[in-house]
Amino acid sequence: MEQSSSSHAASPIIRVRGLGKQFGDTEVLRNIDLDIDRSEVVCVIGPSGSGKSTLLRCIAFLEAYDAGFVHIDGMLLGYRLNDAGRTLASNKEISRVRRPLGMVFQHFHLWPHRTVLGNVTEAPRLVNGLSRRAANELGQKMLAQVGLAERAHAYPEQLSGGQKQRVAIARAMAMEPQVMLFDEPTSALDPELVGEVLNVMKRLASDGMTMMIVTHEMGFAAHVADTVVFMDQGEIVEHGPPQQVFKTPASARLQQFLETWRERSL
Ligand code: ADP
Ligand code: MG
Repeated sequence: MEQSSSSHAASPIIRVRGLGKQFGDTEVLRNIDLDIDRSEVVCVIGPSGSGKSTLLRCIAFLEAYDAGFVHIDGMLLGYRLNDAGRTLASNKEISRVRRPLGMVFQHFHLWPHRTVLGNVTEAPRLVNGLSRRAANELGQKMLAQVGLAERAHAYPEQLSGGQKQRVAIARAMAMEPQVMLFDEPTSALDPELVGEVLNVMKRLASDGMTMMIVTHEMGFAAHVADTVVFMDQGEIVEHGPPQQVFKTPASARLQQFLETWRERSL
C-alpha cells in the first residue's frame, strides 16, 4: 500500500527491487536491487552497453520497466497495483511521483532561443507556477551556485560546453529536486571543460544533495561517492564504498574492467 512521503522520512529516497528490462528479446537489466538513501552519492560504473543508462532511465520511468519495481520516496513509480497485477499509471500520476527527481544528461538540451536565465526559469514558472519575479530570483540563486550568475542573460550558443552543462544542472536544481540523476554529464565535453562540471557536482555533494551519477570519471567517483555500483551485462556485479570497489575488487569482471581502464588512462 502506498503511504505518504512524510511517514517515509527514514526510508531510502529511491528503492529498486528485482528490476528487469528487455528490449525485444534482449534482456538489458536483470534483477536489479538498489537503495539510495538521503544525502547518499551513488556512482555507477561499468563498460559501455552494460545497462547504466537504461537503469537510470527506468528509475525515472523514461523507460517502462518489465519486472520488479521502483519506489520514489515510498511511492511506486510508473504502475498501479490492482487485482490484475499492475497497469500503467496515468501520465499525471507518473509526473507526480517522479517530481523529486532532477536529471542531467550527456547532452544539455538547452533552448537555443532562450537566455540562460530563461532556460533555468521555464519549468519553475510553467510547472510550479512561480511568478516571473520569484522564478528569476530562484534562477539567479541557482546560477550563482554553478558559478554562472554573470551569464544569466547570455544565450546558450555563447557558452562553452562546460558552461552549458552547468546551466543544465542549475535548471534541474531550480525544480528543487530531492535527488539528482546524472548520466555521463561530462562525456560530451572537451577534456579541459570536464573539471568545472565535476567541481559543481562535488559542491552539490558536499552540500548534502542526494545523487546517482553514471560516470567514467573514476577519480571523481573515488572522491565523491559513498557507494560505487559496478554494472556488467545488465547486472549489478559489485557495490560498496569506493575504497573497497577500487582497491579490493572481488569479481574477475570488475578486476578486468579496472585494469582496462588503468591501461587506457596511462
Ligand atoms: P550503457 O549506458 O551502460 O552504455 P545502455 O543502458 O545504453 O548501456 O544499453 C544497454 C543495452 O541495451 C545495450 O545493449 C544497448 O544496445 C541496448 N539498448 C539501449 N537502449 C535501447 C533501445 N532503445 N532499443 C534497443 N536496445 C537498446
Ligand atoms: Mg549510457
